[in-house]
Amino acid sequence: MKSNFIGGAWVDGASAVDNINPSDTQDVIGAYAQADAAQARSAVDAAAAAFGQWSLSTPQQRFEVLDKVGSELLLRKEELGDLLAREEGKTLPEAIGEVGRAGQVFKFFAGEALRCAGEVLPSVRPGIGVEITREPIGVVGLITPWNFPIAIPAWKIAPALAYGNTVVFKPAELVPGSAWALAEILSRSGLPAGAFNLVMGRGAVVGQALVEDPRVAGISFTGSVGTGQQLARACVARGAKFQLEMGGKNPMVVLDDADLDVAVNCAVQSAFFSTGQRCTAASRLIVTEGIHDRFVDAVVARLRQLRIANARSAGTDIGPVVDERQLGIDLQYIAAAKSEGAHLAFGGEAFGHDAQGHPGFYLQPALFTGTHNNMRISREEVFGPVANVIRARDYEEALSIANDTPFGLSSGIATTSLKYATHYKRHAQAGMVMVNVPTAGVDYHVPFGGRKGSSMGPREQGRHAAEFFTTIKTAYTAP
Ligand code: ADP
Repeated sequence: MKSNFIGGAWVDGASAVDNINPSDTQDVIGAYAQADAAQARSAVDAAAAAFGQWSLSTPQQRFEVLDKVGSELLLRKEELGDLLAREEGKTLPEAIGEVGRAGQVFKFFAGEALRCAGEVLPSVRPGIGVEITREPIGVVGLITPWNFPIAIPAWKIAPALAYGNTVVFKPAELVPGSAWALAEILSRSGLPAGAFNLVMGRGAVVGQALVEDPRVAGISFTGSVGTGQQLARACVARGAKFQLEMGGKNPMVVLDDADLDVAVNCAVQSAFFSTGQRCTAASRLIVTEGIHDRFVDAVVARLRQLRIANARSAGTDIGPVVDERQLGIDLQYIAAAKSEGAHLAFGGEAFGHDAQGHPGFYLQPALFTGTHNNMRISREEVFGPVANVIRARDYEEALSIANDTPFGLSSGIATTSLKYATHYKRHAQAGMVMVNVPTAGVDYHVPFGGRKGSSMGPREQGRHAAEFFTTIKTAYTAP
């Protein structure tokens, strides 16, 4: 059994669960420890005890730890990518790319540890100096989802440690393998005991214990809207800092003047790759009259060519849905769209085996046409390979439909018009805007996050990560 990591030691859980491969449910990856609430609290004890030492560590020490972790991730990206594809179901190239990304994130924050600058100003009063510096906030609880099993943990753990915080990390139940592998690398990185702790277990038990623990100064969470809102209320109640990344219902507008190949590529990539299981996936394709039919035909032609198969097989374009529960949700949304009068232009069929006979949660990508923005599939995040096309009269109507959503994470447009591209960048109500590039797929050195119902709290990634993981101190000195 793979254990939890608390206070610098590997500790058995209160129980254990099997990690199952969604591409082949007969393949059990291994047994992983499940903490209970008491064990989660003991991880907070360890992190609190280590804070004094790690918060005063030098930038050089932090650089060395993070750089070492980044190097090992990059070196082992094929091996760890295979584990990631095996437990999560994204394709091998996507999974290897994700591990590489996690390595780059650690390298980036290794550098940031050396660049944590402050400001010096003269006081408005004579003879006094003012310094503004950043300090770590304390013990942070990091709660992550299953869809990016190593990149999201990396982009929370790396800045947390770079700025001198100590960490209790709770990964998603479905993907303990990547989390454990990352923890194992961190356990050999030169961190003092307790600076980093791994507690695998259930959200309602381990996650909640972290959220409620008065010694946890901040929670950084990525997951569903319902859990995020519940967590925000708990954090507000006890005055803890929080950073939440939740759902999306991301639009991609396609204008008459778009390059058709670019538009189709962006739409298919955004909506269906990684099995549509990305919070930045484009699920509303808003298409103007003049290109609508050509666009739909071309997307359907592309979807026909895609190979939906075992995530680890060569040539697979799209792997399975992550588990039976998520597959059930996807199928319910497909049924709801049909019953609301949407036309299923392609796909939507689940099949229980791939071509080699592996039992798994396979689902053909589903494309709906003849939809409008008030249908459930236009309002609610599905988190699967399901997208719908909404016909728009012109650019103005397309923009207004794009913004008519409770979410605001990523928003895309395909156009060759500088005028519309410029206008869209300014008026899209989203944290990230994509012109002629997919809505999903971002850089690691710039901010990531959204508006409205998608996010709460400061941005993640890039140097803006300091906003959450540090607190500002203003010091006045009279000589
Ligand atoms: P998803 O539907 O994608 O699994 P969740 O919001 O349920 O989204 O899960 C995201 C993360 O939040 C997971 O690590 C999960 O274990 C954790 N989680 C779930 N419920 C709670 C809770 N009540 N308190 C804290 N964390 C939770």
